[in-house]
Amino acid sequence: MATETIFTKIINKELPSDMLYQDELVTAFRDINPAMPTHVLIVPNEPIASNADVTEAHEAAMGRMHTVARKLAEDEGIAQDGYRLIINCGENGRQEVPHIHMHLLGGANVGPMLIRQKSS
Ligand code: AMP
Repeated sequence: MATETIFTKIINKELPSDMLYQDELVTAFRDINPAMPTHVLIVPNEPIASNADVTEAHEAAMGRMHTVARKLAEDEGIAQDGYRLIINCGENGRQEVPHIHMHLLGGANVGPMLIRQKSS
């Protein structure tokens, strides 16, 4: 079990957020520092630290994150034009909050996928 982060406080409504969705497995709320016109975070209610900690026991919550992303993209009016889903993992993945979360990004063209790194 991961240490609780600010996201657990948001899930438990101990901290304010712009919450868009919650069920028994996942919660979705707007990112406080949006990088795109639509920037929503979808998180499991259970504080799983990162993708490195995901097990078969988490498959229902991980799958629900995807179906909720699809629903919220429709609600936000970005489904037709497309969007990007990102899950950062660990230090090289530049994950800042150690509670796994999916970024739903859209409302404009998000640009190229990555800055290419040279292979050595
Ligand atoms: P990551 O770098 O993938 O760990 O992303 C963490 C994200 O959490 C960033 O996009 C932050 O802007 C966002 N964030 C941090 N604190 C909050 C908060 N209190 N409410 C909403 N989003 C937050």
